[in-house]
Amino acid sequence: MKATWEKLRKPSAILEHSSAQLPLFKRHKCKQDGRDLFIYGTRAHTLPWQEELPPLRFSPESHLRWHPLRQEWVCYAAHRQNRTFKPPLAYCPFCPTRTKDVPTEIPCSDFEVAVFENRFSAFALEAQQTPELSIASAPAIGQCEIVVYSPFHEGSLGSLSLRQVELIVRVWNDRYQDLMARESIQFVMPFENRGEEVGVSLHHPHGQIYAFSYIPPVVAKMREAFREKPVLQELRQTMGREYYIFNDRAVFAFVPPFQRYPYEVWLTTHEFHPGLWTFSQAEIHSLASTLGKVVRLYDRLFNRPCPYIMLLYAAPKGEQKHFQFHIQFLPVLRAADKLKYLAGCETGAGTFLADMLPEETAAQLRRLSHEEL
Ligand SMILES: [Zn+2]
Repeated sequence: MKATWEKLRKPSAILEHSSAQLPLFKRHKCKQDGRDLFIYGTRAHTLPWQEELPPLRFSPESHLRWHPLRQEWVCYAAHRQNRTFKPPLAYCPFCPTRTKDVPTEIPCSDFEVAVFENRFSAFALEAQQTPELSIASAPAIGQCEIVVYSPFHEGSLGSLSLRQVELIVRVWNDRYQDLMARESIQFVMPFENRGEEVGVSLHHPHGQIYAFSYIPPVVAKMREAFREKPVLQELRQTMGREYYIFNDRAVFAFVPPFQRYPYEVWLTTHEFHPGLWTFSQAEIHSLASTLGKVVRLYDRLFNRPCPYIMLLYAAPKGEQKHFQFHIQFLPVLRAADKLKYLAGCETGAGTFLADMLPEETAAQLRRLSHEEL
């Protein structure tokens, strides 16, 4: 297929190995419908392939239309209407194929982390036909991938072992490098939607990766801000200690003094990094450990699995010098049973109304973090 994947013809190709870290193995399989499946792990994956979910019965049809007032693209992907919605446990497509009669997306009896192209992808790497329209339109070029965090149906970044979360961080890093190497891709964003409140239809612990052929509007604004000055470095120097939630030698987590969502938390590194690809092993370890602690803290805060959107922001193509890697957690609750709605002022004007001050939510999170997480 792609030249860089030649080395993956062997059952399992080793990508990294040094005395300071566990090796990272990657095994590739081309699914019946042409989608790629990668099995990642700290050991070589040699289990036999089982039967897989039947191929797609529709071809993806997506395109972009330009919104002239918002000055941004809107993506239309009608085939996504048919996507899997809250299947019963026995039909979870992200569990390994443990019996022959229930094939899944991952046709082998076990794995550590699996990545595959979304069956209901909004984007496609091959240009598709765009309908004739009176307004500006474009093919929806890009890639949408699913990252399955664990072979077990239950769990979260907060309950998985540190070793497993570290593996997930290294898988994100490999996906960044693979996707950013493609000419048509400008920006890659791993993210996680957690909880039914943010529309999650499959409960198996997983995240997603969207690879864009253009710089999306939120990231374009960030790019301008980072070009102007090192925003996060300056914030680190000027922000008071009361905003910090976790802090070690490599990574720190804090409530931004301008938070929009109640209990919003950001993670970044003390040293400047454009993306995970420049992280040291110690920084990857620290990031994984902090990710787990933040999710456990949220669950402790509301005494229930906290629904959130987690976003990884790494430099778009050509922005390595200025754009600083960071992660944003946007929880969608303002209390255990109260959702934060994006209503008139937020949706219509782009101005968030907040009930709680960032200083208050930071103090509350800090108090809760004193007991071991
Ligand atoms: Zn499952």
